[in-house]
Amino acid sequence: MTIRCEIVSQDRMVFEGDVDIVVLPGSDGEMGILPHHAPLLTTLNYGIIKVRQKSQEYLFTVAGGVAEIQPSIVTVLADAAENVQEIDMARAEAARQKAEEALGKVSAEDADAYEKLEAALHRSNLRLDAVKRYRSSKRFPSNEG
Ligand code: ATP
Repeated sequence: MTIRCEIVSQDRMVFEGDVDIVVLPGSDGEMGILPHHAPLLTTLNYGIIKVRQKSQEYLFTVAGGVAEIQPSIVTVLADAAENVQEIDMARAEAARQKAEEALGKVSAEDADAYEKLEAALHRSNLRLDAVKRYRSSKRFPSNEG
């Protein structure tokens, strides 16, 4: 028995497939979603989505969003999400440095700019940490093969 999983970010479909379990970083804690789960709507923290499909496990970084759970489908609408295998380390490192430098210059009164830069820093750190922790060529294949 499987449950459909669709992970959509603002600019693309990141993953779709029929899977055995989806583990989400819900705002109230990690949630394991199996087929026939009760309907539920939850916001997501920054973190890792784990998807198991047969013997394969896919890992995605997610930078917040919402998940709608129905008995036969989990739909994740992510602010940004990417397969850990697809993360460009150089890009994440450049984004981290840029955000850090800009944070050092922004006025503390400009709350909006400060918040955006903190979020950018958080996203880049999430990506860098995920690659260091989870990327390995065999255990976590990308969604393409
Ligand atoms: P950057 O400053 O490098 O654009 P960002 O954090 O501002 O980073 P986002 O707005 O979070 O980027 O994401 C925009 C799109 O680019 C999303 O589809 C996201 O999955 C993708 N993306 C962002 N950073 C990376 C990365 N390091 N590797 C792969 N995809 C990335």
